[in-house]
This record gives sequence, structure tokens and C-alpha cells, in this order.
Amino acid sequence: MGVKICPICGKEFKGMGHPCKDGDYCGDCEKKVTRVFPGEDAYYETAGAIRAKLEKYAGEIAAYDSVPKPETCPICGKKLPKLMSLRLLDAYICMSCAEKASGLLRKGYDAIGCMCLGEIQPLFGKAAVQGGKKDASGTFHDADSLRVLYPLIRTLRETPGEEGYDTDYIDPLDTLSGEELRSAPERAEKRRSYLRSQYGDHKAVFEVDSVTKLYGTTKGRRFYRNEYRVGGRVLLGELRCGTPPSSAARSSPGSFRSAGWETAGNTSAA
Ligand SMILES: [Zn+2]
Ligand SMILES: [Zn+2]
Repeated sequence: MGVKICPICGKEFKGMGHPCKDGDYCGDCEKKVTRVFPGEDAYYETAGAIRAKLEKYAGEIAAYDSVPKPETCPICGKKLPKLMSLRLLDAYICMSCAEKASGLLRKGYDAIGCMCLGEIQPLFGKAAVQGGKKDASGTFHDADSLRVLYPLIRTLRETPGEEGYDTDYIDPLDTLSGEELRSAPERAEKRRSYLRSQYGDHKAVFEVDSVTKLYGTTKGRRFYRNEYRVGGRVLLGELRCGTPPSSAARSSPGSFRSAGWETAGNTSAA
């Protein structure tokens, strides 16, 4: 077997190497790659993209083995258990913080483990993670009670790679001014009592803009399915996708109870 040139570090190496999208790289690079690419992710990247990431995190990769395990979790400040912790690229965090980060980023622990503390920590200041937000006077406002005014909106962002998208959350609570936050509980309560007076007491109420009967085409001819796309917004409460859309759609268009709504923001569902 001949000698190859590693497309990442430029050194010669023998053997099969480790495949990426446009070449094979050496074993020395592979050790670094596993620090910053979870699972098989590097397989789908070009040598150039891998080199760029290794350069970006060169300092953290070099220091990986000398990172001490701290007594307390750097995010929540609680005692870090001896065994139950998650190793990040440059730190250790507790499993409860790891679980929150994983849920918020919709990434597995292996992917979180390839990130730096500085990339994860800002997430923990968000109202959605803290369950609410403190105003200037130190009063804590529960996020759930304000969602009637400020729903958490889930969006999908296209990204290269196997899954094809990442989840982003837009939380209006994170950008409220001090005055808006202070007056929010009173406004939320007003809104709730208005909705209650309008629609009665329900777990959730939503306003419908459009109901569209779905169809398919066969040989240029339309056939209407017994399914509907419902568009609108949630006024009160939260609706989650629970029932498969097909069985939800089988009920009449006037009955939305089991429709496939997923977020508390503006949305539509088939
Ligand atoms: Zn190499
Ligand atoms: Zn923690």
C-alpha cells in the first residue's frame, strides 16, 4: 500500500486512512476529529471544512487531556457527581444541565460533548430554560403564565448534513423590555379572562384562518382526500402534536380537538 498525503494536515501517512466527503485523512487528524465531530458527522464533511474546524478549536483540542474535573457544575453551580457528568470539549457539566442543553438544541449528548462551555452557557440564561424571567425588581415571572401573550415559537433552520435541519426557538420573553415584563402578568391575566368570557374555560383555544381540503392527483385528475390543512393561531393554552394527522383529519373540519398543532405560535398543520 502506497503512501498518501493527508488532505487535512498535509503529512504523509500509510494505510487506508479515515474517509471524509472528498478524501482520506490520517490517524493523527482522526484523534482530533473525534473531539469536535460527533459520531459519523465528519464522514459527510469535506477535508477543507474539517481542517477549518480543527483550526478553530485547536487550543481546546490541545488542552483536552489537561482539563480538570471541577467540584461543581459551571452552569448550575450544584455539586458535580463523580460519575454522572458530561464531558464537553473544554469543561464538565452535570447531567441535568446536559439534558436541558440537549433538549434545547435538539442534539444528542455526543453532539453536546463536542461543544465548548461558552457555546452552551448562553442558552441557560433564556427564559424558556429558566422557566421564566426576573424583572429589575427581582420578581420572578413564570413563563407558562405569560405564554398566552408571548408564545414560544419553534422554527426549523436548514443546515447541511444528514438531518437537514436544526431547531431554533424564538422566545419573545427573552427580548421584552423591563416595563413590558413588569406589566406582563396583569396583561396576561386580562387576556385570559377575556378569552374565558368569549370561549369558556378550555385547555386551549385557537383561532382558525383557513381550512383547506387536501387533494392528490392521479393521471392529471384531482381526487380529494378526507384530510384538511388548518391554519391559524393559538389564543390560549398550548396544543401539541399527539394524534397522527391522518386520524385527526378524519374528523369533520369543524372539530379541531385532535388536529396536529404543534407550537403555541402561528402555525398550520396538515
Ligand atoms: Zn492528518
Ligand atoms: Zn449543572
